[in-house]
Amino acid sequence: MPNDSSQIKLRELPGVDRLLQMPDTAVLLSLYGRTLTLEALRHTLESVRSGLLQGRVTAVPPAPLLIQSATDWLENLLTPSLRPVINATGVIVHTNLGRAPLSQAARQAIDAAARSYSNLEYDLVAGERGSRHAHATQLLPHLTGADSSMVVNNNAAAVLLMLTALCHGRQVIISRGQLVEIGGGFRIPDVMAQSGATLVEVGTTNRTHLRDYSRAINEQTAAILVAHHSNYKIVGFTSEPSLAELAELAHTHHLPLLFDQGSGALLDTSPFGLDPEPTVPDGIQAGCDLVAFSGDKLLGGPQAGILVGRADLIARCQQHPLARAVRADKLCLAGLAATLTHYARDEALTAVPVWQMIAMSLAEITAVAENWLTHLQANGITAELINGESTVGGGSLPGTSLPTCLIALSPTNPDALAARLRAEAIPVIGRIQDGRYLLDPRTVLPEQVDNLRQSLVNCAKEEIGD
Ligand SMILES: *Cc1c(COP(=O)(O)O)cnc(C)c1O
Repeated sequence: MPNDSSQIKLRELPGVDRLLQMPDTAVLLSLYGRTLTLEALRHTLESVRSGLLQGRVTAVPPAPLLIQSATDWLENLLTPSLRPVINATGVIVHTNLGRAPLSQAARQAIDAAARSYSNLEYDLVAGERGSRHAHATQLLPHLTGADSSMVVNNNAAAVLLMLTALCHGRQVIISRGQLVEIGGGFRIPDVMAQSGATLVEVGTTNRTHLRDYSRAINEQTAAILVAHHSNYKIVGFTSEPSLAELAELAHTHHLPLLFDQGSGALLDTSPFGLDPEPTVPDGIQAGCDLVAFSGDKLLGGPQAGILVGRADLIARCQQHPLARAVRADKLCLAGLAATLTHYARDEALTAVPVWQMIAMSLAEITAVAENWLTHLQANGITAELINGESTVGGGSLPGTSLPTCLIALSPTNPDALAARLRAEAIPVIGRIQDGRYLLDPRTVLPEQVDNLRQSLVNCAKEEIGD
């Protein structure tokens, strides 16, 4: 209940009209316009009013302070919530940090498509309506060995579309060891249910044999599905038939073999010390009829889902009504096409950021880390270099890592340092391990290094002292 003194103070609260006439408000009016400024002033006055009534606020702030708080509210409202951050976690495809940063060519292509009209669905030769499926698809057969391809919004959509268009109302056989949940709640059994196909599980969690699949085939079977173990590893007494064996079995029964490859790796990861995983071309080579994968994991492009494989199956996917609901936008198609040209030119390792990071040698990373260390020490901050591991992340290559060199800071309160670094103009995201704050140079983009070093000096000085 408001008491008398808060009632008296409420009467001291200026009205919106009075604040509007103050000179400081003129700046707000010119920057933000009348509607937003009024809303900000009303919001500020309302929060002071309720603060007074609840006893949270004991006196009416002077008018300049009220206008300042309206300004803060406006700035907060108009600052985009999606912002660049510095990824010093060493996780290359970090789903929470937006997965793959794009190559310069991909960024330029997106900018060009954004600025102007384009032939998105226009056939320039015929001068009539064309198909958006014509874009970004010309290189995919060349790069994967498939006959045909299509691009949708993301790989979850690609898998859903493939199962809906080809298997609705019929059965799909999958190994129990592959009933996976990928981050963000993408669960193969749920996607299957959504597609209207019936899941037929075969084998056991650790072992599934070819005969398990062949026993499950009947006249209701629409396809065999293989889902890549993208974010976990089954070790020990395990076995699964190869893609080639499954393709042979499927084809004997005139069934398609569908492969959710996931990562979109077009290149072999083993030369970098990572576990080998089947690439998209490996899937096609082994006889898979359709392969589904993401555009923004190891492909290193924009968010997209890609289907490659038999032309008749791709056509059925394109013609299904769901294709319209999951179609890729023009910015994605432009960025994806530019990313694919790097592979066609055989320059992915030097032009696609995700692959540049994978290919960085320990010596290169150590040189960067030493440079940061010198900079920190010159500013009176104690740190050391330690051996560590970077990971590919994003549900790719589970259980394998790349050796790296980490900068280790030992603040009294690592959580406080982490919070400070996250509050920088370009937030810095590192990791805390055994009471130390760790930064991995592998995933820090060259153009962000100056910002990172400055932020470290600003924040670590306060937290570590000298
Ligand atoms: C990542 C992944 C998905 C989901 O792909 P999005 O592009 O995130 O929609 C599906 N299947 C597998 C095997 C994956 O690795």
